[in-house]
Amino acid sequence: MLRRAKVAVSFVLVAFLLMMGGAPDSNAASKLPDPVNAGFAEKLFRLNCGRSLANDESVWTPGENVGRSIEFSSTCWLIKHGNEWLLWDAGVPESAHNDPRGWSTLPKLIVYHLDRTVTDQLAEIGLKPGDIARVAISHTHGDHIGNVGLFSNAAILMQRAEYTWINSPNGPNDNVNELMALARKLLGTPKNLQLIDGDTDVYGDGSVTLVSTPGHTPGHQSLLVHLKNSGFIILSGDVVHSEENFEQNTVPSLNTSKSESIASMEKIRQMMATYKAKLFINHDRKQTDTLKLLPAFYD
Ligand SMILES: [Zn+2]
Repeated sequence: MLRRAKVAVSFVLVAFLLMMGGAPDSNAASKLPDPVNAGFAEKLFRLNCGRSLANDESVWTPGENVGRSIEFSSTCWLIKHGNEWLLWDAGVPESAHNDPRGWSTLPKLIVYHLDRTVTDQLAEIGLKPGDIARVAISHTHGDHIGNVGLFSNAAILMQRAEYTWINSPNGPNDNVNELMALARKLLGTPKNLQLIDGDTDVYGDGSVTLVSTPGHTPGHQSLLVHLKNSGFIILSGDVVHSEENFEQNTVPSLNTSKSESIASMEKIRQMMATYKAKLFINHDRKQTDTLKLLPAFYD
């Protein structure tokens, strides 16, 4: 009797949902593209957005490599979709250009250098900062938003959770608090700030998708790009810092959530399987050195 009653209740519920035009859909929460029918972006360029030297690798590999120095790459990506340009991450601030002392987000830990400005690299392919319609940022660490101010006419796309976080009261970790203060300063008050909630299809054709991957920061995101010849490429942001960390599920000590970081790495792994996607890891110098650099591009 009880079972029959339950079935009846389920039937009524389903009928109600159908009536409301909202049939239950297991994919309702995901805006990730259909791997078969996704549209294409035309070109993907890598910009050299800085390099950095850190004096204690163990911050990124807790318990290992204590006191060892490490060099990271900093990467920005420029995407051409139709006649529109989107910049992914804005790199180390141009004020650091050719400054031998470098620039720092956390002076005791890491120093950044910038050998070429973003403006100069855009000019190499005939573009000015004003030609960029959208700037999407993976997260608000200074080495990813250092040049947001150059793109004052662009829409700035970031996760709402990230914006809420940097405007929230300080937490227990002084380094993290320092990074939040710097983020507020570098971000400023963009004219056209677009706050995103979760996975979001930027152009509505499945070609460029913001993918929520929290853990490094509360509103961290990665980017899934679909190209005709290269297939799907995932731009990591800082969901992971190296191929080794990705293989071993290693979570840096500066990350705001270890469990979210591990879940986000797993999400990326599943996407790599679903989309047969390559993962380009922003700060992995070894990998970055093997990738095409503007004016060369992926298509
Ligand atoms: Zn970061």
